[in-house]
Amino acid sequence: MANKQTILVIEDEKNIGNYIDTILNSNEYKVLRAMNGRTGLSLCTSHHPEVILLDLGLPDLDGMEVLQQIRGFSSVPIIVISARTQEKEKVEALDGGADDYITKPFGAEELLARIRTALRHRLQTGQSQTQDLIYSKDGLVIDFERRLVMLQGNSIHLTQIEYKLVSLLAQNAGRVLTYDFILKEIWGPYADTDNQILRVNMANIRRKLEANPAEPHYIFTEIGVGYRMLE
Ligand code: CA
Repeated sequence: MANKQTILVIEDEKNIGNYIDTILNSNEYKVLRAMNGRTGLSLCTSHHPEVILLDLGLPDLDGMEVLQQIRGFSSVPIIVISARTQEKEKVEALDGGADDYITKPFGAEELLARIRTALRHRLQTGQSQTQDLIYSKDGLVIDFERRLVMLQGNSIHLTQIEYKLVSLLAQNAGRVLTYDFILKEIWGPYADTDNQILRVNMANIRRKLEANPAEPHYIFTEIGVGYRMLE
């Protein structure tokens, strides 16, 4: 097949690299592999992959440095591969331009879903004028033009901040948005805010949108990182 999408995997652990390789190959992706940061950077410039999977712990360059260098010349979606112990690095990577993250160990379905989301967002930013005007999923409808939120056919009243939050998450459905990113987007870069205000607003939103706020169906908490809305 000539039109396979290329995924660059920058990962020094051979077993994980092989595992990803097998999953992606059997799902019609073309895989390029780099065992260190420098090879990764060079493959990125020579092959223009559609998505990059980037391990944060590499033998030569720091994963964050690889991320920054790629962001210097490309907006290719980057999914960071992190270990459970790298909570802080994960958030830094997201705030530093990574699009998403996946935590080891991960399953095939999770990996494929992350890649599909990254590819979808890549297409959307490529044609920036055609942003979706409506979010509609499992009975929740958000009309961005009319600023209306409907749940199972009933109009839901949200405060202005709540609406901004929900529409930001819905317009990035499937992607994790970090606390810092959301705070800056909603309250502005200089606002004196912290995660608490976000948690309070999210609790109110969940009371209005979720059948069971303790087990949300539409907006998920990514512990220590941020929120992700159902795609
Ligand atoms: Ca590693």
